[in-house]
Amino acid sequence: MNKNKYKNLLTESIEHFKSEGFYRNFTPILRKVESFPLTNLKFSDNNQESSHKLKIWCTNDYLNMSHNQSVIKEMIKVIKEVGTGSGGTRNISGTTPFHQNLEQSLSNLHGRDSALVFTSAYSANQTTIWTICNAFKSICVFSDELNHASLIQGIKNSKSECKIFKHNNLEHLEKLLKDTDSSRPKLIVFESLYSMDGTITEVDKYVALAKKYNALTYLDEVHAVGIYGKNGEGVAGSLGVSKQVDIINGTLAKAFGQIGGYIVADNYIIEYIRSFAPGFIFTTSIMPSVAAAATKSISIVKDAQHKRNYIMKKADYLRNQLKLNNIPFIDSNSHIVPVMAYKSQLAKLYSKKLLEKFHIYVQPIFYPTVPKNSARLRITITPKHSNNDIDELVTALINIYQNSTNKNTKKVFPEVLKRTPIYT
Ligand code: PLP
Repeated sequence: MNKNKYKNLLTESIEHFKSEGFYRNFTPILRKVESFPLTNLKFSDNNQESSHKLKIWCTNDYLNMSHNQSVIKEMIKVIKEVGTGSGGTRNISGTTPFHQNLEQSLSNLHGRDSALVFTSAYSANQTTIWTICNAFKSICVFSDELNHASLIQGIKNSKSECKIFKHNNLEHLEKLLKDTDSSRPKLIVFESLYSMDGTITEVDKYVALAKKYNALTYLDEVHAVGIYGKNGEGVAGSLGVSKQVDIINGTLAKAFGQIGGYIVADNYIIEYIRSFAPGFIFTTSIMPSVAAAATKSISIVKDAQHKRNYIMKKADYLRNQLKLNNIPFIDSNSHIVPVMAYKSQLAKLYSKKLLEKFHIYVQPIFYPTVPKNSARLRITITPKHSNNDIDELVTALINIYQNSTNKNTKKVFPEVLKRTPIYT
């Protein structure tokens, strides 16, 4: 192929992506320890520079653990003791007592035999699912239609047959299970909290269905660990079925405020993944300081029921205010509140207005992160956001929605969102 053609194909794709309104601009932002949720952002307009205080409303550092003083101290202490990098894969000097302690505390948190830590929850999902599918050649995978990209990638890479069930629809899942040869190995892949909608899954019902059809279960608890359950053990734990899920996946990067991902399972499964998953074996392990900070963070989060209660109460308060003011949002009882804009261009416009006019920072979310025509502003409340902050946010949203040029918001109500109650 002519060398120019490589460039042309890639740049044309980006131009097309831009023309559809899906191109993303990143805003560099500092979440400052001393002032969060407030920060400063420099604006430049017609060569004029100005600086504004902004309030951040879209972090996944759900419990502000990345700012926790004990966690910071622990990380610095370990860096001073053993340096920054881990020095290799787990097999080649990349296993430290800090990694082992972390895995112990994760298995304790979930009440499971064993845990295995990866460089991210994305890698954990992708490589674990691929490895399980590879172990059972004729496996049939059952995947929720809204599953995260990392779960989908793991399934796709394995080239296993995959049947997609309607979001959180147990009847549809059961029909697909029933229609599949009972002698085939089966894997049900789902999430406990769909973070773009904020909806919580009835994990116990999936477990019962899996039992009935002899299927394995793979549950992504990335947005739930630290937030749900008495000790932050996630939704499966809160429903008393942690031990009945074959593999639970979680992240260290959201409620625990660090970086890295993990799975917990029975010992024989962890042994198998540890021995055969390329995404575990062939990559450098996380920094020892990160492992130590994550262990410290988990121990603090276990006792942070007051923080969990706080964000749930504030999320309810926000939902109530949105309802009273006819602002469309997806209703749930989780800590995530998605405010609907539908069109990606509108989500971008609302986000820009919030930033420039009201000094509020919420990134727009649109395709491919969510289905087309379901763009939104995904709001997350942390223990540092007060009722006054929420009132300020709602006042800004009222202004934006009242002055929206799109008077057809309700007319473009997409099919895909009928699955969850939306208040408009
Ligand atoms: N699973 C889900 C459901 C996610 O939303 C994400 C990331 O946001 C991941 C997995 C990946 O997590 P990590 O950021 O630790 O790679």
